[in-house]
This record gives sequence, structure tokens and C-alpha cells, in this order.
Amino acid sequence: MKVGVIGGGQLARMMIPAAIDLGIDLRVMAETGGMSAGLAATMIGDYRIVDEVLRFCSSVDVVTFDHEHVPQSVLRAMIEAGVVVRPGPDALGVAQDKILMRRTLEGLGMPVPRWAAVESAAELGTFLEDHRGVAVVKTARGGYDGKGVRIVRAAHEADDWFAALAEDARGGALLVEELVDFRRELAQSVARRPSGEVRGWPVVESIQQDGVCAEVIAPAPSSAGRIADAALEIAVGIAEGLDVTGVLAVELFETTDERILVNELAMRPHNSGHWSLDGSATSQFEQHLRAVLDVPLGATGLRQPWAVMVNVLGGPEGGSMSDRYASALANHPGARIHNYGKSPRAGRKIGHVTAVGDDLATVAYEARATAAELSV
Ligand code: ADP
Repeated sequence: MKVGVIGGGQLARMMIPAAIDLGIDLRVMAETGGMSAGLAATMIGDYRIVDEVLRFCSSVDVVTFDHEHVPQSVLRAMIEAGVVVRPGPDALGVAQDKILMRRTLEGLGMPVPRWAAVESAAELGTFLEDHRGVAVVKTARGGYDGKGVRIVRAAHEADDWFAALAEDARGGALLVEELVDFRRELAQSVARRPSGEVRGWPVVESIQQDGVCAEVIAPAPSSAGRIADAALEIAVGIAEGLDVTGVLAVELFETTDERILVNELAMRPHNSGHWSLDGSATSQFEQHLRAVLDVPLGATGLRQPWAVMVNVLGGPEGGSMSDRYASALANHPGARIHNYGKSPRAGRKIGHVTAVGDDLATVAYEARATAAELSV
């Protein structure tokens, strides 16, 4: 069984150990040499160029992704050439465009923040007037880690993005939505096979700093019952409604008035599920491979009562994470370190740490302290 992954980042990298265990022949098309998943890279190629992508696809049975950037035109050409693409172009399209995502989620009856697609500062101004003078504006395409998300209080504050849209041959609009008064952010991941089997992990809490995921607590504290049920029902409904195959991560807001709203979707393993490598019976990377190959899914329960994952970001000094191993490994023998093998740039995710155990305060301390020692 040969699985091809387009994109050579850390998500593809973390599929490698699961592929080894299951005897799956994993092949990666990386953008450049020396990427995180370089160990499994059988080709360097440009995911925007049909010929290069089709050449890669000809050597595998099923193709999946490390990111959501493969253009629709390339995805359609893959389908026409008979490539098995999981998730498929229609599902991926919804994750590629935040306006289409909001419209589609609403069509499925999912709870979302109040939103509009706006094409001018005047339209943005009208939305602001209707929402007590504050809103969140997002670029529909290409945003990540909070880039492309801005809180605005005046209509002119998105003029640069409107100007960029005017230059863009594809045209389009900006997404504007209410500033959600949330108590905390949650994330619910599920995996779905083409034959229909779906399994979800426990809902988790994710803590963001400057728009970037900093920490994840599994399960989300005090979520048993209503919150866990609602989150799972939403994610399963989206996976089935959009015919998603593979892992689907749904980012959620838990509002101060007790509602659960959908923020974002990712149709691949997601940062909020990294804890599952060390904290769940089946990791999201193994589950993704099982799902895209349409073989039975694994159990998704916690191995220990708590798992806390903390990201390690590159700092201004630019040293490597492994330069710091001596003290981190000595001081925290129980913490699980995952190094993405990336050259550190300030603010770039270069690895993560997970700690597991039966006392949340201890587990959270271990994960945070280890990540702090590894930060360069
Ligand atoms: P990205 O695609 O860059 O991850 P998101 O849409 O997930 O962008 O937004 C990043 C972060 O910005 C969210 O995790 C949340 O903290 C904050 N945010 C996004 N939308 C809203 C909103 N409508 N109300 C309040 N905060 C928001």
C-alpha cells in the first residue's frame, strides 16, 4: 500500500513512524530539499504544477496532503487522471476559502459567528454599524497562524486588504464576522473513512498566543457531557456533510453565553491533535493513514487522564532545538519531545512537547517547563 503525501512539512514527517509500524510505503513530494519530512521525500516538486503532481501520483495508490494549498485546478486534473485523492477536491475547497467555509457550514445548519462577505470599505462600515462598532476581518484565502485575521473598529482599517483584492485576478471579498466573546477555544478532531466509519478523539482546549496555537489540553477541562457531545456532533456532522476522508479538525469557540460556534476547519492532522501521538491509543497521524487507505480505524481514548502539548517556537537567537537537549532531557525524563528538524526562524513552530499523567497541574508544568528549556 503506497500513500503519497503532497507537502513535506511536520505533518508529513509525523506520519512516517506510523507508516513504518503499519508497513505502509509512504512517499512525500516536498517543496524543497531539507524539509521536515525529507526522510520520506521521493520527489521535490511544485504542488501548483499539474505535470509534476501527476508524475508523483503515478507512483502511489492514494494521495493525501500535508497542507491545503494545492489549487483546485490541480486537484481536478488529478481526479481526471484517475488519482485517488483523499480528502477530495470538493471537501478541500471548503477548507481553502473562509467565505465558502462559512456559507457551507451555515448550509449544513452548523452554529457559526454572524458573518458577511464584504467587497468594499463601505460594506465593512455597514457591518460595523450593525455590530457595535467592532468586527474581525479575515482574508478568505491563504491565511494561517493568525496572519490574515484582524480586529477592526473602523472601515478603513482593512483598506490594504481591499487594495490587494483589487489586484488579484481571482477577485473576491473579505470575510467579516462578529468579535466572538469566547470563554475559551476548543478543537474537535475526527477521522472518517470513505466507507463511512467515523471516530472522534476527546474534545481539547487550545490556547493561542498572538494568533498561534501555544498549548493544548486533552481533554478540555470540565467538558464531559454537554460540551463534549456538542463538539463531537458538530465535527461528525461536518465530516459526513462534506464527505471528508482522513482527519478533520474543527476549531470551536465556547462562548461566555454557553454556545459552541465553529471557527475553522482543517482537513488533515492538525496542531490541536499532536497530543494524540503520546496521549491517545491511536495518533491522528496513524488514523489519517488508516482513513485514507480505508482500513479500520483505531481506538481514540486517552492513555492517561491528561495530556498537555506545548509548541516550541523559534526565537531570535536561531539556535537548534537539539543544542538544548542536555538539560531538557535530564530535567524532564518523562516529557516527550518532537523536533521537526526545521531551521528555526523567530516565531516558527519548530517542535512540540507532550506530557501525560493523572494530575493536570503536574502534566501542564512538565510540558511548559520542557518547552521553555528547548526554546531557542
Ligand atoms: P488562522 O486561519 O490564521 O488560524 P483563525 O480564523 O483560526 O485564523 O483565527 C485565528 C485566531 O483569531 C483564533 O484562534 C481566535 O483566537 C481569533 N479569532 C478568529 N476569529 C475570531 C472571532 N470571530 N472572534 C474572536 N476571535 C477570533
